[in-house]
Amino acid sequence: MTSKYITLITNEDEQIKSIGTPFGRSSSTCGYCSPPGERSGAYSSYHVAGLNTTKLTCEVYQKMIDRGWRRSGIWCYKPDLRISCCPQYTVKLDASVYKPSKSQRKIINRWSRYVLKGKEGEMMETGTNQKNPEPKGKEQVFDLVKAIHAAEESFHKEEHPAHRFETSLEPASFTEEKYQLYVRYQRDIHNDLQNTPRGFERFLVTSPLRFEEIPYPSVPPGHLPRKYGSYHQLYRLDGNLIAVAVLDILPCCVSSVYFMYDKAWEEFSLGKLSAMREVSLAREIHEAGISDMRYLYMGFYIESCQKMRYKGEYAPSYLLDPEAYDWHPLESCRPLLQQNRYACFSNPSHSIQADAPKEFIDRKPPRLVDRAILENIRILAQAPSPDLCKYLIPVYRTRLWKHENVREEYEACVEGLGKEVAQKLVFNL
Ligand SMILES: [Zn+2]
Repeated sequence: MTSKYITLITNEDEQIKSIGTPFGRSSSTCGYCSPPGERSGAYSSYHVAGLNTTKLTCEVYQKMIDRGWRRSGIWCYKPDLRISCCPQYTVKLDASVYKPSKSQRKIINRWSRYVLKGKEGEMMETGTNQKNPEPKGKEQVFDLVKAIHAAEESFHKEEHPAHRFETSLEPASFTEEKYQLYVRYQRDIHNDLQNTPRGFERFLVTSPLRFEEIPYPSVPPGHLPRKYGSYHQLYRLDGNLIAVAVLDILPCCVSSVYFMYDKAWEEFSLGKLSAMREVSLAREIHEAGISDMRYLYMGFYIESCQKMRYKGEYAPSYLLDPEAYDWHPLESCRPLLQQNRYACFSNPSHSIQADAPKEFIDRKPPRLVDRAILENIRILAQAPSPDLCKYLIPVYRTRLWKHENVREEYEACVEGLGKEVAQKLVFNL
C-alpha cells in the first residue's frame, strides 16, 4: 500500500499535531432566546460546520476562532449567522489600549478595599467617595495591571489585610471542589439542577489544545503562564474557592471560555472583575515580550441578547465580519446589527433584514472547494490486519468520497475552516 499520495505514519505524535472528525450542518435549540422548556424551530441555532477533535495546536485553534469558531470541551463549531435566530459574532477587546470606564474602575477598587480593609472599610470608603468624586485626570494615571493585583496576597504589602485573596492559574483539571462550585453556580444563578461530574468535565475540563511553550525572550514574572493551552484560574478568599475562570491562552489572545462564581459574592460583580483580570493577563504577557499577544476574546456578542450587552462596555472592542473575516469597531457595527437580522460589515448589502423573503435567506454562497485543495485534505486510515500500519491519504482518493453525505460533511467543514487551516489538520474517519 504505497503511492505518491500516501504517507506512512511512523510517529503519530510527531506527524499529526491537529486531528478531528468533521461534521456538516447541524442545529440545536437556541440557548439565548428560547423560553425555558420550549423546543421549537422558532428558536434555533444553526452551525455551518463542526469538528470533534482530541488534539489541536494552539496556532490552529487561534486561526479557527478568527473564522468564527468556538469550542465547548472538545467539540468545535461554527455558528451560521445567516439563519440563526440570535446571530453570534466573535468579539475581541484590544487589551493593549483598553482603559476601564469609571464604573469598571470602581469595581476593581471596591474589591481591593474589601479584601484589605474589610466590610467596614469598604462601606466607609464608598461613602467618602460619594462626597469626593474622583479628581479629573485620574483616568490617565489608573494603572490596570497594578490595580488588578492590588488585593492579591502575593502582591500587596499590607501587613494585616482583612482577608486573604489569591488567584492561581493551573492547567484545566477536574477537582471535587471546582465541581461543587459549578453545581452551586448553576443552581443559584441559572436555576439549573441537572448537573453531573461528567457533564462538567466534558464542558469545562476537557480540551483538545496541546500545551506549547510561550516563547518569552527572558524569564517572565512568576505568576504568568509558561505555556499556551487551556487553564483554570482559581479565585480564593481566605482559602475558600469563590470563583473559577476557564481560559484558553493562545498565541494572539486570552480567550475567555467560561466564568463561574459563588453567589455569596455576587454584589462584587466578579464576572466583570474577571474580564478585567483577563485583559490584564493578556497585557502582562504582551509586556513580557510576546508582541502578538494583544487581545481578550470574550466569546460571542449577540446584539439581541440583553445579558451579552455588557461586553460592549469594554472598549475598544471589535466584531469579526462573518464573510471577509476582518475586524470592525463594535460601535460602527451596532447600527447594522440593529437594522438587520444578519449583518455583514465588510459588505453591508449582504445583510439580511428581519422581514427578508425566505428565498433570500436560504440562498447560500456557492461551494468552492477545489481539487487542488482537496489533494491536501488528508484522513488518517489504518491498513487491515495483519499490517495495521496507519497512513495519511487525500480524502477524495478514498472510497468514502463516493458517498454524497460524507462529501458534504467534509466540504462544509473544509469551507468553514478555510483552506489554510483545513490543510494543517488531519481528519479522522
Ligand atoms: Zn435565539
